[in-house]
Amino acid sequence: MEVDQGKLLLHFARNGDYGPGGSELLVLERGEGPYVFDTAGRRYVDGLSSLFCCQLGYSYGAEFAAASSAQLEKLAFNTNWATASPPALELAERLSALSPSGDARVFFTSGGSESVEAAWKLARQYHAARGEEGRTKAIARDVAYHGVTLGALALTGVERFKSPFGPPAIPVRHVANTNSFRSGLDEDAHCDALIAGIEVAIEAEGPETVAAIFAEPVQNAGGCLVPPRGYWPRLAELARRHGILLVADEVITGMGRLGEWFGVTRYGAVPDIVTVAKGLTSAQASMGAVLVSEQVAAPLYESGRSLLHGVTFGGHPVAAAIALRNLELFESEGVLENVRKLEPYLQSRMEELAELPIVGDVRGAGFFWAAELVADADGGRFDAEQRERLLRGFMPKRLLEAGLIARADDRGDSVVQIAPPLICNRDQLDEVVDALAETLTDAGRFMGLGATAATAVA
Ligand code: PLP
Repeated sequence: MEVDQGKLLLHFARNGDYGPGGSELLVLERGEGPYVFDTAGRRYVDGLSSLFCCQLGYSYGAEFAAASSAQLEKLAFNTNWATASPPALELAERLSALSPSGDARVFFTSGGSESVEAAWKLARQYHAARGEEGRTKAIARDVAYHGVTLGALALTGVERFKSPFGPPAIPVRHVANTNSFRSGLDEDAHCDALIAGIEVAIEAEGPETVAAIFAEPVQNAGGCLVPPRGYWPRLAELARRHGILLVADEVITGMGRLGEWFGVTRYGAVPDIVTVAKGLTSAQASMGAVLVSEQVAAPLYESGRSLLHGVTFGGHPVAAAIALRNLELFESEGVLENVRKLEPYLQSRMEELAELPIVGDVRGAGFFWAAELVADADGGRFDAEQRERLLRGFMPKRLLEAGLIARADDRGDSVVQIAPPLICNRDQLDEVVDALAETLTDAGRFMGLGATAATAVA
């Protein structure tokens, strides 16, 4: 039965397209392990962890319910507005110890966009406290998604999400992202070019006017854009040399997605600020956090100075209790170890997709992978009409028919992405990749691509 969305306004969706004769609305009502079930009882493997959130999948309801009901019975709510609760204090300690610097101060939020905006304000207050009020600008990367509330939207590098909403709240210069497939350069030359490009941008803006650089360790929008070797240490050095703060936006890459608590440690850099959300509670409660290095936080602890930012639900004690339980489960279930152990296998399975004529590139890290989709053996791009048919027409429907939740996207180039729950075993990862291979094989035929890329080149 095809249902419409009733009174519900769907996020980032063509709300008018659902209902009889239109797109089928997926209504999920139950989960188990990495699987979710719709109201008709159909089972899907959740290859996207519900938008990069459900790190533990769907079988820990009893554990999370116990943690939240214990907290609800003790103290249902309290703010972090000049007060605190034991779970918020304990979670701050735990996150501080796990942070890339090993000693961060922690500001809680309700989600990713709030974390990004809080990071921006913390950066600005840091500079202002040092007498550098002129640092009003930010650097971010093309196509990157940092959220859509107005401050975060300014950092987001997807023009079509921004243009209807007027001038950006923050002056942001966007620089090249790390799509190596499109760069045409070898890894070292690509890294040199990217870092040189950022330095040129900083010089053009005036280094003394730039407050912060925002970047994801592996950029999601554009399709799991991994950094070239050496990129993050060089970015950190560049930022430091110009007195600019480096913000790692780990809303997706944090909490085990790349096999580390924070993805940036994998790439050998210690940023000044880290943002986190989604996986912090494995999405069992709405919570985000900003981890601020000791040095950046120091001015905020000077006598008489106020932190000019706060959100009512930041540090919610029930959410904090759930996040603490999440961290315990990560440890007792060996979640990071599972990702590290199975990453090479997932990589090898994903790389098999490169044989398909519609796949131009496969890239990613941890449990976070993308295939970039191409129109021909030379890596040609699909035009707007083809993308509409493929990414909004054929793929979403065919993926669900194959029993897989994955994401077809063209905020940048055309990609399909997976980010399975971090508790998946080898067989479950096989299910994800097999369903993806089946879908992409059909997608290639649908788009008229017959031969494999290798055959076509030959
Ligand atoms: N930053 C990154 C890297 C994200 O991927 C997202 C959301 O996907 C956000 C920020 C915004 O998070 P939220 O949707 O929780 O506001």
